[in-house]
Amino acid sequence: MQDVLARLSGKLFIAGQFVEGQGARLQVRNPARNTPIGDIAVATSPEIDSAVAAAELAWRPWSRQPARARADALHRLGSLILDDASAMAQVMTVEQGKPLSEALGEIKKLAEACHFYAEEALRVHGEIIPNDQPGYQSLVMREAIGVVAAITPWNYPAELVGWKLCAGVAAGCAVIVKPSEFTPFTALYIAEKALQAGIPAGIVTVLTGDGASVGLALVQHPSVSKIAFTGSSQTGLRIQQSCPSIKRLSLELGGNCPMLVTRHADLAQAVRGAVRRSFRNMGQICIAINRIYVERAVYADFLEQFATATRALVIGDGLLHPQADVGSMAQLAPLQKTRVHLQDALEQGARLVAGGTAPDGEQFAQGFFFQPTIVADCTHAMLVMREETFGPLVGLAPFDTLDEAIALANDTPYGLAAYAYTQNLQEIHRCAAELDVGNVAINHVDAGIMNAPYGGRKQSGVGVEHGREGLLEYFQFKHVRLHHGVGV
Ligand code: NAD
Repeated sequence: MQDVLARLSGKLFIAGQFVEGQGARLQVRNPARNTPIGDIAVATSPEIDSAVAAAELAWRPWSRQPARARADALHRLGSLILDDASAMAQVMTVEQGKPLSEALGEIKKLAEACHFYAEEALRVHGEIIPNDQPGYQSLVMREAIGVVAAITPWNYPAELVGWKLCAGVAAGCAVIVKPSEFTPFTALYIAEKALQAGIPAGIVTVLTGDGASVGLALVQHPSVSKIAFTGSSQTGLRIQQSCPSIKRLSLELGGNCPMLVTRHADLAQAVRGAVRRSFRNMGQICIAINRIYVERAVYADFLEQFATATRALVIGDGLLHPQADVGSMAQLAPLQKTRVHLQDALEQGARLVAGGTAPDGEQFAQGFFFQPTIVADCTHAMLVMREETFGPLVGLAPFDTLDEAIALANDTPYGLAAYAYTQNLQEIHRCAAELDVGNVAINHVDAGIMNAPYGGRKQSGVGVEHGREGLLEYFQFKHVRLHHGVGV
């Protein structure tokens, strides 16, 4: 792993080659130990221009290749990633902080995305639509959108790059990845695999650096036709406002996701779901459960079981304890925000039920660790119930009627995901229909699957990833109306 980090430090991947970046350097740190692991280059304006020019040159010939050629390249990429999954997972763990077993799972999902979009590339087609007049024919064609900037956050350094890269490459676009400055090495490692897979020069690019300079320069570049962004709602809005010309945008943004537990729920099942989706990846998941509304009749029982299961979670340095339930947080800012939201809840009268501090022990002294934390008896005024914490903190409140619970769940500017546990058929249908989000999971917490569209509503974003719909975001329509040439 050290050799990979040394090899990729300071590099940009432009026009099919790794080049030494000429700009300023940013240090990347292992959040579990707060120690440096390498440097990245901040791509300069000339480097960004030359990367975009190479992408411009590459995408048309790529889009005109048979779909089978793009599919084969993506299958090769998926296989190469799987072959090297263990080394890739180590790189992710040292830059992100999640346990190695979880990082490995994410790398496997990245490979799955490669294979999924390889297959999907073969299934996209245009249409011949019915004539409106004799002698005419209308063709609706799908054409690649061109150069795409994929700007990604640090919580899922492989998957969030992969969904955009695979869909774009499958569609015939050129994808320029600007990974988070906190987790850039996983993206550079993926570029190495793209090179080995024989994806043509310019189709995959990685430009490292911060958002305010490199990200913004891509957003404002006249030759970039689409921005595929995952990150906070604030940055998404800034990107939308800073586009100097019309561009296609897909924005996967923040959330404040509710979970509803009624008295008809299987409580043990609901507790397992709550633990997993509140604290996995230290709660640094856009679809993490932030707030749980429990029907009053089962509130105390659920709370006790949830607190017991949460206290039993094993925290560890993700590299030394690959099977730990949770690792460190990925950086200081979300840890500080978690403390602010916790403090706010306690000051407003919430009850601390589990966690609340950093774990004890020498091994936790330097890194960004925090115990999975539950606060109960929350009100809707508390930050934890209203804003995205993006940390290992969840708030609970009792409810009396399903109407009340659904109203509370929907009373948020966000609309990403919601979870409900109930065995009652009528309640299941009401939750499915009335929760105002892009993804509803009922009696489980794995809201996203590769072949269904995944996206948010309201301030949680526009556009989708995953599925056929996610691929179609990388195409534009062309209507060709033909006349057969006689008797106009
Ligand atoms: P962020 O918005 O701070 O940064 C995301 C990316 O945008 C980074 O690469 C950053 O360098 C870049 N960036 C920052 N400012 C920019 C600008 N002005 N122009 C262009 N690029 C810019 O987000 P983060 O802290 O890295 O990630 C956490 C956020 O991501 C959370 O809000 C979380 O909910 C969200 N997220 C959403 C999803 C989803 O699918 N909806 C998935 C994961 C994370």
